[in-house]
Amino acid sequence: MASRRASRPDPHSEAQRRRNMSRIRSRDTKPELQLRRALHAAGLRYRLHDRRLPGTPDIVFPGRRAVIFVHGCFWHGHDCPLSITPATRTEFWEDKIRRNRTRDSASEAALLGAGWRVLTVWECALRGRERRPLDEIVSAARKFLDGGELYELIRGGAAAEGVDSDGDLQARQLQRAERERR
Ligand SMILES: [Zn+2]
Repeated sequence: MASRRASRPDPHSEAQRRRNMSRIRSRDTKPELQLRRALHAAGLRYRLHDRRLPGTPDIVFPGRRAVIFVHGCFWHGHDCPLSITPATRTEFWEDKIRRNRTRDSASEAALLGAGWRVLTVWECALRGRERRPLDEIVSAARKFLDGGELYELIRGGAAAEGVDSDGDLQARQLQRAERERR
């Protein structure tokens, strides 16, 4: 029985295989799925992975002309505890991550230039010891979607420091730090 099954053609079509590969790389990660479910539960409606837009944003709100990227901290070189450069093949990884960051910056610039607003949610906001409550992330995302900011980011750790009332100030500081780091 097992050998008969094994001898059958691979049931995965080429398209399916490509989807699987891209999923392994960055799409539909668990933190992204968590966020999508929470946004949907909050009544927000969106499109996914729109390849017509620069950088293929993960979550797209066409009516609000806004997109959300959910960035894996390792792959996108975030300065946080989830992003540790491997001890082996260090140069390979650093080069790969540097190229990803360059691509991210170019995509964001192209989106902003085309009149889109860009929210980046870092993986560390959703996963790991610095993660933030999901409802807090959803309300921050909603605030961005309803507001007029062109660029915003949500990362882990911010709420852990007890600065809820200064949340906006902290977000601006983080945003500035992130810009300067580029
Ligand atoms: Zn991070």
